[in-house]
Amino acid sequence: MATSVTLALDAPDAAVFAGRCVGCGGAATTTSTLGFAKVVTNARGTQRPVHVTLPVPHCAACALTTKSVFLAALIPFVLGFLAIGGAAFAVVGFGAAAAGLDEVGRPNNANSLVLGAGAGLVAGIVGAFVLELAARVLLLPVFGRALGQAPLFVPSLFTDADYVAGLTGLPNADLTAVTLTFARDDIASEFAAANAARLRL
Ligand SMILES: [Zn+2]
Repeated sequence: MATSVTLALDAPDAAVFAGRCVGCGGAATTTSTLGFAKVVTNARGTQRPVHVTLPVPHCAACALTTKSVFLAALIPFVLGFLAIGGAAFAVVGFGAAAAGLDEVGRPNNANSLVLGAGAGLVAGIVGAFVLELAARVLLLPVFGRALGQAPLFVPSLFTDADYVAGLTGLPNADLTAVTLTFARDDIASEFAAANAARLRL
């Protein structure tokens, strides 16, 4: 069973982990990093980028798993985006140019390029998602639980979720708190006890 707690991010570096590996509960020898970035609009309407990192204790094996799972999502994402997005860009862009879209309006305008780029972007994200799903099904027997727990990369682009082995973080809208989902209940309860003052209900 996974356990979720919501941590206030007023002083992110001060989050207390028990010192055990968050992935497997063994001795921690290194750290992996949960990172969140958002553009936050304050009360006066000005926007500023906010970036929060949370160092998470890991053993060497879980840190390596974290990197592998990231690559297992990133590589199909990039390939899917380039292949499907590139194809859609070419087909729509050249199709629109051939259909005479660039003759509309002022001379030298590039309606076909704009249309092609828009189609390429949408198709690229869809293609990346499909390829990531396919890669996950194929790689699940190799990576096992760690990959099964990781959020899908493409949806996480829209939710800003981040994952390390044993722990998924989902920030709230203004990045003042993050919901941490621990794969291990014992690690979660140790964390909740050590950070009780900063937990939000
Ligand atoms: Zn570990």
